[in-house]
Parts: sequence; C-alpha cells; structure tokens
Amino acid sequence: MEYTEIMVRYGELSTKGKNRKDFIARLGGNIRKSLRSFENVEVHPNRDRTHVVLNGTDSSKVINRLKKVFGIQNFSPMLKVEKTMEAVQKAALEMMQEQLKPGMTFKINTRRSDKDFSINTDTMNRELGGFILDHFPENDVKMKNPDITLRVEIRSNGIFLTSAVINGAGGLPVGTAGKGMMMLSGGIDSPVAGYLGMKRGVEMEMVHFFSPPYTSEQALAKAKELSGKLAAYAGSVQFIQVPFAEIQETIKENCPEGYLMTIQRRMMLRLVVELAKKRGGLAIFNGESLGQVASQTMESMLAINDVTNMPIIRPVVSMDKNEIIDIAKDIDTYDLSIMPFEDCCTIFAPPSPKTRPDLEKTRYYEQRIDVEGLLNRALAGVEITNIHAEEQFMNQDEEVFAELL
Ligand code: ATP
Ligand code: MG
Repeated sequence: MEYTEIMVRYGELSTKGKNRKDFIARLGGNIRKSLRSFENVEVHPNRDRTHVVLNGTDSSKVINRLKKVFGIQNFSPMLKVEKTMEAVQKAALEMMQEQLKPGMTFKINTRRSDKDFSINTDTMNRELGGFILDHFPENDVKMKNPDITLRVEIRSNGIFLTSAVINGAGGLPVGTAGKGMMMLSGGIDSPVAGYLGMKRGVEMEMVHFFSPPYTSEQALAKAKELSGKLAAYAGSVQFIQVPFAEIQETIKENCPEGYLMTIQRRMMLRLVVELAKKRGGLAIFNGESLGQVASQTMESMLAINDVTNMPIIRPVVSMDKNEIIDIAKDIDTYDLSIMPFEDCCTIFAPPSPKTRPDLEKTRYYEQRIDVEGLLNRALAGVEITNIHAEEQFMNQDEEVFAELL
C-alpha cells in the first residue's frame, strides 16, 4: 500500500492545558529533526494531531523514525483519495484485501471536518460498510472491538483512509522539561537512565569521563557510539568528554585506598555541576541503581552527593538488573555496552572500596588534594562534539577489533 500521509496523535501532552501550544510546537520541531534526511516530507503540526505528508517518500522508513519520537501516543499511515464515493470505495477495497482475513470483523468509522461534503458520517459508515460486505460476504461488521477499524476522514483537501494504529514511544517531547546532564559511562545502566530521562522530556547532554592513556580510544568511541543510539530519540546530542586521568592519579597517590572511589565520584560530580552551570543544565542524571554493586549504597550516595545541592536524578535506582537489561536491549544499547573496553572507573577501582564510606572521613582525606586546581585543569581539557542519530565511532575493522578486545 502506497500511503500518502501519516497522522500523528499526541499522548500525555493533550492534557497539559496551557503548555499545550509549546508542547505541540516542540514535538513538531522534533519530528522535523528526526525526518530531516527525507527531503520531500512535510510536517504540519495542528491542535489535535500532526500531519506528516509523505510526497512519495517510503512510509515504512518514516514510520521507523517516528517510533522513536517521544510525545507521540500513536500514529496511522493514511491514504488520500479524491472526494468521491467511487474513490473511497476503491481505496477501501484495496486496504481490506490486504488486511481482512477470513473470520475477521470490521467497522467503518467516519469523521467529517468538511461539513459541505454531501455525504454525512452515518451514510458513509453504512454505505461503505455495505459495499465492503458485498465483496467480503464471509466477514462481519462488529461495532464493539472489531478486528479492523477502517477510519475515513472527510477533510476539505481530500478524503483520508486508514486502518492501522501504530504505537508511538509515549513520553513527552524532548526539550519540554529543560536540559539535564547525563553522566554516561560505557556500561549498561547509564544509557538506559539517559533514555528514561529523555522520555520525560529532558534534553540530555552526555558527559563522559575518560582517562588516557589508561583507557583506550575504543572506550571513548564506545561512549560516543552509545550517545549516537540515544541521539535517535532527540535528533542529535552534545557529547562532552572530560579528561580524568590526572585527578585519578592524584587521588590514588594521596588518599587511602578505601576512599578512592568515593573521592573520585565527588570530583566527577563537581565537574558535572560546573558544566551544568555553564550550559544551563537544571539537573544531573546518572545510572546508579541501589545495591547493585558494593559502591552503590545510600551511605555512598550521601558521601558523594555532599558536594552539591543540584538535583541528582537516578532513573534506574529501583530497577533490577534484568529490568534494566530488557530496556537496554529494546533501545539497542546492550550489545555495545557489554563490549569489554574498560572505562576509567574500572581501571582505578580499588580492590575493596568502602561500601559505607564515612562522610567526615571522606571530607578529611579529600583535603590532601588540590580540588580547585584539578577541576580547573580538567575543565580546560573538555571537548564537545555534536553526535547524530546512529553515528558510528568504533573501529569496524574486524582484525583491529579482535586485537583490541
Ligand atoms: P553503568 O552501567 O552506567 O556504568 P555501573 O553499574 O557500572 O553503571 P558505576 O560504575 O558505579 O555503576 O557508576 C555509577 C554511575 O556513575 C554510572 O551509571 C554513570 O552515571 C556514572 N559514571 C561512572 N563512570 C562514568 C564515566 N566514565 N563517565 C561518566 N559517568 C560515569
Ligand atoms: Mg560502569
């Protein structure tokens, strides 16, 4: 079936009274961004729906992109025909031939925004229903929960038919909640946390700490490629890489082993807070999940959180690992995340970090390092890249790859 248009229905945002206009405008912009590579596609946001006019573009490709745009409840590919009963019948017949299997029930559901059109909704429902029945005597009309609902929309610029409703990603349009800073490692949890934040309308900037020469180019590339996976939900994302080796070396030389992890995390957090202040971030997101590893205890959170009062949001905090993995597989980050390129945390991880670090001791040991100087030098080394949906960064050469692994 060659569809001519896709009708997009809104989710939660339809209930958001005064913000409604902003939401619709933002969603329209996000849809445009995600369909940017299709030259002929037009996007028309309206109060109740957004219409995506295909102008000959392959509908299945457009549909795949739309599935990742937050704020869409569902959408329907539609066929536009001339405003005559014959044209409607011909198109309806073609659609039912594709979809109506023996034993299935159906109904016709007509809406008419063009009140000047000579056939009203009841007549259309009845006549078109009768016409379909004549061609499919084995099938029945059913008003409540039919297998197929054929929707007919009579508008001023044509009549539109659709029989499929495809689920969208739900959530709120990215950007409507403001900007957040995502602490993105190369692991399984933080990409999932980033996705969940974006789903609630947060425009996420990815902050990644790396420690050359202790961490490899591939580890950095992996974090970038993960960002590309998340960019599919936003059009593009900013990737902020922060050099962390000097900080880690200094902490290792000067602080007791049990507190290395806690103090490192405090330094990471301070850096993210600085970046948030500079770039208009309103909150920090991370992939911590309570009790998952020894370091993720509430005592540990207390000792780390001590350096800022900016909100830290932990979208996966209460999830089981299996639940997180399920989402990671859905959003296609899992396979990348499990590639064994060690990130800075793994390399400087002490054999036995304190699972219940003491806040006073943490502050005390931290005085042994030059916090300000270390932060300033790390910030001076920050590099920022704009990453597009599905952009690739890992070395794809199989031999090189095998060696790196
Ligand atoms: P993940 O699977 O996200 O790596 P994890 O279970 O390995 O999480 P930790 O290593 O304790 O947990 O890290 C906790 C959180 O700290 C991560 O989810 C991430 O938000 C942040 N984090 C850790 N390492 C980095 C890094 N190199 N760059 C940016 N953020 C990091
Ligand atoms: Mg990790």
